Amino acid sequence: MQRLSLANTPTKISKLERLSSELGKNIWIKRDDQTGTEISGNKIRKLEYSLKQAIDQGYDTVITCGGLQSNHCRATAAAAAQIGMKSILLLRVTDGTKIEGNYFLDKILGAEVIFCTPEEYRFSRNDIMNSIASKRAESGQKVYVIPEGASNGIGCMGYYSCYEEILEQERAMGVVFDDIVVATGSGGTYTGLVLANKILKGGKRITGFTVCDDAEYFTNVSLTIGKEALEYIGVNCELEQSDIHYNDKYSGIGYALSTPEELNFIAKIASLEGLILDPVYTGKAMKGLYSEIKLGTFGDSKNILFIHTGGLFGLFPKQNDFIF
Ligand SMILES: *Cc1c(COP(=O)(O)O)cnc(C)c1O
Repeated sequence: MQRLSLANTPTKISKLERLSSELGKNIWIKRDDQTGTEISGNKIRKLEYSLKQAIDQGYDTVITCGGLQSNHCRATAAAAAQIGMKSILLLRVTDGTKIEGNYFLDKILGAEVIFCTPEEYRFSRNDIMNSIASKRAESGQKVYVIPEGASNGIGCMGYYSCYEEILEQERAMGVVFDDIVVATGSGGTYTGLVLANKILKGGKRITGFTVCDDAEYFTNVSLTIGKEALEYIGVNCELEQSDIHYNDKYSGIGYALSTPEELNFIAKIASLEGLILDPVYTGKAMKGLYSEIKLGTFGDSKNILFIHTGGLFGLFPKQNDFIF
C-alpha cells in the first residue's frame, strides 16, 4: 500500500499521570495532534494515502468538504500546498463566515473556497463536488474528489497503519493497551483501527465516541468503509457488527456546539495535564471516556490508549464561550 510521507510519525505516546491516579486506570495518550503544524491532526494520515493516489493518477487539484471550521479541510489545503497541488474546499456555512481558526488558515494556504448551505451539504455534497470536478475538466483542470473526512476505503488505511505503529510502540514500551479510544466524526479513523485490530488479531476493544449522529448510523458507515478497504487491500475478511463499538452518549447538544460543562472539562484537563483538547471532537470523547470509567464500563481494563486526533485551531473561535 503506497502513501506519501507528510506526517511526523510515529507520534509520541505518554501517560497522563494525574488523570490516571484520579481514575484508577492507566490512561495513555497518543499525540496525533502533533502529526505536524499546518497538517496537524488525524486527517493527514488518511490524506497520505488519498493524495498518493491523486498524484499517481495525474491529478493537479483536490476538492473536499466539511464545516467552516473543518480540520480536515485545513489539513487538505495545507497538504495540497506542500506537494504543489491546488485545493478547492466546499464549506458548510451555518452561522456566518468570519475569517478565524481553520477557515483563516484555509485562506492563507491559498485554498479556493466554495460555500454551501447545511441542506446542500447534507443531501448533495458529493454531487456538488463531482459536478465541480467535471466542470473543471472541460478547461483541463484535473480535480480529485476526497469525501468528507477522507473517510473511505483508501483514507481509512491511514489508521490501519497507525494501528501497526501502536503495536510497535507497545513492544518498545513494554505495555499492552487493552483499549483504544477515539472521537468519531466521519468514521474513517475508527474503521481503520477496527479493521487492523481484526486482521492483525490485536484483540483490543476499540471505542469510538461519536460527536454527531448515532451509533447505528456509524456502525453502518464503518461496515461500508470497511468493505471498501478490504476490497482495496485484497484481504479476504469481513467486518461484523460485533467488531464495532460506538458510544453516542456524549455528543452533547450537537455537532460543533459546546455546553459549559464540556468547556469546563477541557479547562480541567488542560490545567491538570498541560494537555489541550478541542471542543468539537477530543473534548467530548475524553469526557465520554472519563464518565464511562466512573460508571465502571472499563472495569476490566488496565491500560487505555486515547488517541488525540487534533483540532486545536477550532478551539480559538470558541474562546469567548469559556467562563473563567
Ligand atoms: C475529523 C476529526 C475526528 C474524527 O475522525 P473521523 O475519521 O472523521 O471519524 C476526530 N478528531 C478531530 C480533531 C478531527 O478533526
